[in-house]
Amino acid sequence: MKPFSYARPGDVAEAVREVAAEPNAVFLAGGTNLVDHLKLGVATPDLVVDVRTLTSQEVTDLPDGGLRLGAASTNSEVAADRRVRERYPVLAQALLAGATGQLRNAATTGGNPLQRTRCVYFQDVTTPCNKREPGSGCSAVGGYTRYHAVLGVDAALPDPDAPGTCIATHPSDMAVALAALDAQVQVLGPSGARTLPFTDLHRLPGDDPATDTTLGHGELITAIDLPPLPAGTRSAYRKVRDRASYAFALVSVAAVVTDDGVRLALGGVAHTPWRATRAEELLRGRALTDDVVRAAMDAELAAAQPQPGIDGGNGFKIPLVHRTVVATLRQLTTEAQA
Ligand SMILES: Cc1cc2nc3c(=O)[nH]c(=O)nc-3n(C[C@H](O)[C@H](O)[C@H](O)COP(=O)(O)OP(=O)(O)OC[C@H]3O[C@@H](n4cnc5c(N)ncnc54)[C@H](O)[C@@H]3O)c2cc1C
Ligand code: SF4
Repeated sequence: MKPFSYARPGDVAEAVREVAAEPNAVFLAGGTNLVDHLKLGVATPDLVVDVRTLTSQEVTDLPDGGLRLGAASTNSEVAADRRVRERYPVLAQALLAGATGQLRNAATTGGNPLQRTRCVYFQDVTTPCNKREPGSGCSAVGGYTRYHAVLGVDAALPDPDAPGTCIATHPSDMAVALAALDAQVQVLGPSGARTLPFTDLHRLPGDDPATDTTLGHGELITAIDLPPLPAGTRSAYRKVRDRASYAFALVSVAAVVTDDGVRLALGGVAHTPWRATRAEELLRGRALTDDVVRAAMDAELAAAQPQPGIDGGNGFKIPLVHRTVVATLRQLTTEAQA
């Protein structure tokens, strides 16, 4: 492990100043992702600024009827909160589908959506990886692609040697639920505070795969807000994985059904939690029969690009996510009729 300095400032403003002043500084929250990366040599900061006890650990009511999740609230605390379970079951289910009880006791609301990809080559410093070492190439193209992206990637087979190539997926379950809930991210940075839609937090690799999010250097997530949902809203999270105990998603679906329509986000298929806006448009105002949902998902997945690989590739994700959406919406429709 590369040596680094460790700081535990007195408040969030000081934490932001300290990170902003050091180009190679990072925030530390629960540490369940960052500490692994420090040990593996994937993350090599000069300064680690501990914010675990600086932001709020509370879940609080907002005046508009929504909820604010303090950035230091743990995944366990949020999943167990009665208001979250009753009003945002999709979020409680997504959290409980992630990691293990022990990890969820440490992992935080701020750190979870910012965890980095589980691409095996990203975590193996002996292999080329554009995300870890810009310009070195992408070992996943033509390699192990079972956990890699099918949406938001080039229509042509990506060039493994191009500096912009990255077919990694975002691994967080929580983030998929937050995308479907239209959550808002509260941020404090060197230029002050701002709010951004959760769906704008993550970015596709473009020509800069090393950058996962739209946060600037020194910007700290202080809270995530859940907007109120209309009465009668139903929601659910469904995750498909290689084994029932802790494993990352092959594909996952977060669905929120209101009288106005359906909000759908997909996990395990793209570099970002993928909001299925094309399907949402086609489902608006329609009865959610299996045929209608299938047609909407056909349209959403028309641009999906399976990746070949030495493990058989990931073409299976396209029918799998299609069927998972149909099953999730059928479950919510059946529950509403019961
Ligand atoms: C064995 C194992 C299995 C797992 N399985 C799953 C799974 O199935 N599903 C799933 O979703 N996750 C899974 N995880 C990942 C786990 O959920 C994440 O490691 C955790 O949520 C990260 O939160 P943290 O608070 O520990 O973040 P940290 O490790 O402290 O930080 C993660 C990143 O976020 C940054 N950061 C942290 N807080 C802030 C903030 N407030 N503002 C700005 N930047 C910040 C850090 O600089 C770092 O880059 C698993 C992890 C392990 C080790
Ligand atoms: S898919 Fe992305 S993270 Fe994985 S090896 Fe390629 S560039 Fe690195």
